[in-house]
Amino acid sequence: MLFDSFNRKIKDLRVSVTDRCNFRCFYCDPDPAPCTSSDPNLLTFDEIHFLCDVFVSLGIEKIRLTGGEPMVRKGLDLLVAELSSLKRRGLQELAMITNGSNFASKAALLRSSGLDRVTLSLDSLKPGTFRSITGSDKLSNVLDSIEAARSAGYPYIKVNAVIVRGRNDDEIVDLARFARGSNLTVRFIEFMPLDSGRIWDRKHLVPATEIRETINSAFPIVLINPFRRGETAWRYRFADGTGGEIGLIASVTNAFCGECSRIRLTADGQVRTCLFSTEEYDVRGLLRSGGSRSEVTELIRFAVARKKFGHTIGSSTFKNPSRSMSSIGG
Ligand code: SAM
Ligand code: SF4
Repeated sequence: MLFDSFNRKIKDLRVSVTDRCNFRCFYCDPDPAPCTSSDPNLLTFDEIHFLCDVFVSLGIEKIRLTGGEPMVRKGLDLLVAELSSLKRRGLQELAMITNGSNFASKAALLRSSGLDRVTLSLDSLKPGTFRSITGSDKLSNVLDSIEAARSAGYPYIKVNAVIVRGRNDDEIVDLARFARGSNLTVRFIEFMPLDSGRIWDRKHLVPATEIRETINSAFPIVLINPFRRGETAWRYRFADGTGGEIGLIASVTNAFCGECSRIRLTADGQVRTCLFSTEEYDVRGLLRSGGSRSEVTELIRFAVARKKFGHTIGSSTFKNPSRSMSSIGG
């Protein structure tokens, strides 16, 4: 088992399969070069499988594939099938987060390959706003992907919306309505200082409390999980009994660090213990220089033992991580 020095059990692993993306969300802004698996820095599928196997043997219960945009990595269904085999060794859930631009046609294949759950990102229902946020015209692809996820039978589909003042805060009610009567959870996320362009400023932040009040005045909502144990989001249902859920992720104003159970593996093989870490642990280097399984295990334990209690956004000691969200793996 993996416990950090604050006695938190580490059981969720985020695996980034690429730092490249076909979108240019202004709050993230990834490297524009195309993803190519001949990039020597990128972990191969075999390396990812090996490292995930080590993580699972250390008690990781849930793996979420991310990026960049995971769907731009060729042959992702093969990786999903390989990682799915770790369910025989203790893995409980294999999930993915995607921008939904290329997911629709692969939804069923990925599900049959062993993907249990999917989260899709959708910041706007208006084509113009969607384009201005993501730099892409693929709003209809994302909506089709959400439908395809439903048809393929993914349970508890989540839809993530990053809310930014002056960009899409006028759509909070419309996005909440999108959840109503559906089997979706629409999760509203505070804008975090993880953009490569360093444009983040508190004035862009729409606090989760404000988002909640805006939704509540249109559709009264009731908190489902008052203690939020280990969960990132505050979860709400609609008071009138209509289906669908709302999630609020107050990563900046009410961080969930105290309950954090996460660790991350970047696409270039660095272990990070927090989105906001300033340290990384080079498992790719160790692996490629002939490091044994027990040495890799020790490096992971070493990293976890140094996991900080939480981020310090808003304090004078806060330092932006050197990488953007797309490169860390959000
Ligand atoms: N490309 C995929 C996607 O967009 O769903 C997966 C990777 S993306 C980095 C993961 C999640 O991080 C997305 O839901 C995205 O909206 C969110 N995200 C990216 N940059 C962010 C930021 N600066 N603040 C808050 N959330 C952010
Ligand atoms: Fe790409 Fe996701 Fe970053 Fe948007 S948030 S640029 S879709 S990696």
